[in-house]
Amino acid sequence: MANPEFLEERADDVLALILTHSHEDHYGAVLDLWPGFEKPVFATPFTSAMLAAKRAGDGIVENVDITIMRPGKPFTVGPFTIEAINVAHSIPESNGLLISTPVGRALHTGDWKLDPTPVGNAPTDVVRLRAIGRGSHHATGADLRLHQCHEGRREPE
Ligand SMILES: [Zn+2]
Repeated sequence: MANPEFLEERADDVLALILTHSHEDHYGAVLDLWPGFEKPVFATPFTSAMLAAKRAGDGIVENVDITIMRPGKPFTVGPFTIEAINVAHSIPESNGLLISTPVGRALHTGDWKLDPTPVGNAPTDVVRLRAIGRGSHHATGADLRLHQCHEGRREPE
């Protein structure tokens, strides 16, 4: 169960919610949080559809106004420019986020893996990630789980 207390206490500083992908641990709390929070929500078409299906399934009347984001089409949120970057994962339309700020850039990978033939998803955009790596950025935040950190290769899902 998500605990949105951290965000609620800082609601005045939060500009938007950006959903990297549609796994429950990444978007599941939006319907609980959003009615009183009412910040802009950005998501891909698939994640937006998953959220709508969850809303319908849970019988939630309140609708969340979602702005569709797509890889390679940056958008602005306050002083930030956000670029979604396709990453392979176990669910379609998963993204990392390049966040350009007035003082530098940060990369949030989202959940990701290097799988050249992911089922129902495009491979991780390594060309774009290499270009970002050659430029200047101040921080990279990666979602990793212990069981995913091992040497060698796994078969594609
Ligand atoms: Zn995930």
